[in-house]
Amino acid sequence: MPVTRKRIYTIAKELGITSKELIAKLEQMGMPGLKPANTVDAEEYSLIVNLYTEESAPTSEAPEAPPVQTAPEPSPTKQGAPRPPIVSVLGHIDHGKTTLLDAIRHTRVAAKEAGGITQGIGAYQAEIHGQRITFIDTPGHKAFTGMRARGAQATDIAVLVVAADDGVMAQTVEAINHIRAANIPMIVAINKVDKPNADVDKVMSDLAKQGLTPEEWGGDTITVPISALKGERIDELLEMILLVAEMEDIRADPNGPLEAIIIESHLSKGRGPVATVIVRDGTLHERDCIIAGSTYGRVKALIDEAGNRIHAAGPGEAVEILGLEEVPGVGTKIEVAKNLNEAKRKAEKRRAETTTPRRSRARMSVEELFLQEEEADKLQLIIKSASTGALEAMRREIEGVAADKVKIDFIHAGVGDITESDVLLAASVGGVCLIVGFGVKADAKALRLADQEGVIVLTYDIIYDLIEEIERVIRRMLGPEYEELMLGEAEVRNVFKVPAGIVAGCYVNSGKVVRGGKARVLRNEQEVHAGEIASLRRFDDDVREVQAGRECGIRLKEFNDIQVGDRIIVFTLEEVNR
Ligand code: GDP
Repeated sequence: MPVTRKRIYTIAKELGITSKELIAKLEQMGMPGLKPANTVDAEEYSLIVNLYTEESAPTSEAPEAPPVQTAPEPSPTKQGAPRPPIVSVLGHIDHGKTTLLDAIRHTRVAAKEAGGITQGIGAYQAEIHGQRITFIDTPGHKAFTGMRARGAQATDIAVLVVAADDGVMAQTVEAINHIRAANIPMIVAINKVDKPNADVDKVMSDLAKQGLTPEEWGGDTITVPISALKGERIDELLEMILLVAEMEDIRADPNGPLEAIIIESHLSKGRGPVATVIVRDGTLHERDCIIAGSTYGRVKALIDEAGNRIHAAGPGEAVEILGLEEVPGVGTKIEVAKNLNEAKRKAEKRRAETTTPRRSRARMSVEELFLQEEEADKLQLIIKSASTGALEAMRREIEGVAADKVKIDFIHAGVGDITESDVLLAASVGGVCLIVGFGVKADAKALRLADQEGVIVLTYDIIYDLIEEIERVIRRMLGPEYEELMLGEAEVRNVFKVPAGIVAGCYVNSGKVVRGGKARVLRNEQEVHAGEIASLRRFDDDVREVQAGRECGIRLKEFNDIQVGDRIIVFTLEEVNR
C-alpha cells in the first residue's frame, strides 16, 4: 500500500517535526519531491524514516531541535511567512456543515475574552498545536462561489462534508464541481460516523466514482471520518488541514501589499455600514483609507471575532471594519489609498466604470458573446437535465458535435432546474461558460442573477434545437472559414518608381483586377509574394476595377520587388459555411 500523506503526517509527528521538514529531508536524501498527490512506496519510505531516526536518535535531544536546515528555500514568488490557511466548508444540505463549524468553534477557538463569547462576524480562527486555521463561517457552495463570481477567492482549502449515512448526493456533486472550478485542494470529512447506519466504505466508493479516490484506496483524496455532533476526530481533520496548508506553502508578508476580501457586509443601525474582511496578505490598519469596489472610507475601527477592538489585522485574520460610506458587496477586494481624497476618487471612477457593461452580456446572443471573447479556445458548459439518463444523452450529443474541433469542459452536470448556484458557478469561471438546460427551466431568481452577471442561459425541450445551437456556438468559436475566389490575372509589362513605392504597369489577361483585392505574384510559376493591392490606376486616375484586355498600374502593399514578366493573380476571400 502506498504511504499516504496522512501517514507522513503521523510519522512526522512521531518524530517531533513538521511533515514539511520530513518531506524536505526526503528531498535532501534524493527522494523526489513529495508534493501533494505524490506518494512513495512503503519500503522506500520506511528506509528513509529509519535513516532519519538513526541520524537524530543517538543525540536523544528534545524534539524541539529538529534539523531544520533542510527546509527548502521559499520559492521567489512565495515570500513572507506561513500564514493561517483560510478554509470553507461545503457539502449537501443536512450533512453537518453547520454542526462541524460549531464543533470546531467550541473546541478550538481560544477564548479571547472572559467567557469567550464570539461575535459571529462571518469567520473565526481555530487553534491547534499553536497553529491557526481561519474558517469562513458561512457554509455552502453558494457563498463560496458567490465570492468567486465577484472575482475574489478568499478560500485556500475546502472541506467537503459527506454524511456517512447518506453518501454523495446531488449537492455534494455540485460542491465538488464548485471546488474544482476554484482549483483549490479539498479534504473530505466523512461525517456522522456515530450513526448506526453509517457506511464509510460506501462514501469512499461514491467519492471514487466522482474522481476523488481516497488515499487509503490508492488515490490522492484525504478523507477523515468524523462525528461533528459528538466532536469526534475533529482534531484529526484540523491536522489534515494544516498538513495540506503546509504542502501548499501558503505564505504572506505582513509588511507587503494588502490583499483582503469582504466576506460579509450589512448596514447596522448604530454603526453604519459594517463589513467583515479576511486578510490574505499584508496588514489592514485602523485609520487606513480604503476602497471597496465603488465605496470607500477611513477605517474607524477594527473589531475581532471576540468583540475586541484591535489596531491591525494581519494575514489570515478576519475582522469587522467600520467606517465605509456604503455597504460593499461580498467578494469585493479592499485596496488601500494614500488619503481619503484618493480613495474617494478611485471609488467614484470605479462606480462609473462598473455601472453597466457586464449587465448587457446576458442580453447578447451567443454569437456576440464569442465575438467579444477573443480567446475562446474551449467551451465551458454547465448542463442540467431532468434525469441522469437525459444528462448523459446530452453530454454524449454535445461531445459528438464538438468532435475534435473544440475542447468542451463540463464544469458541472446536474439533475434539476437551473439555479442561482449554477449561475454563480458560470460567472466565477474565467472565459465563456454557458448554462444549458434540457427539459428543465431556470427559476426566476436564477434568471435575474444571470442577467446581472452576464451569464447566458439556454434551455431546450427538443434535443435537436439544443444541438443546433451548440453547433452554431462551435462554428462561432472556430471563426469563419474562407475560400479563395479568383477574379482575374494580369501580367507585368513594365515597372516604375513612385514616391509610395513601385508601380507595375500591367495588362489584364483575364477577368478583372479590383482595388483592395488580394494578390499573389507568380514568377516562373513560383509564388514570390501574397498580399493586397494598395492602389489601382488607369492612366492618372484611381479606379475601382479594370477589365480584361486593358492596361493599368498596380501597386502592391508592402512589396517592391515586382519585375517585368511577373503574373499577378487577383482574388477575394469568400466566407463559406463550415
Ligand atoms: P448542514 O445543513 O450541512 O449545515 O447540516 P447541519 O449541521 O444543520 O446538520 C443537520 C443535522 O444533522 C442536524 O440535525 C445535526 O444535529 C445532525 N448532525 C450533524 N452532524 C452529525 C453527526 O456527526 N452525527 C449525527 N448523528 N448527527 C449529526
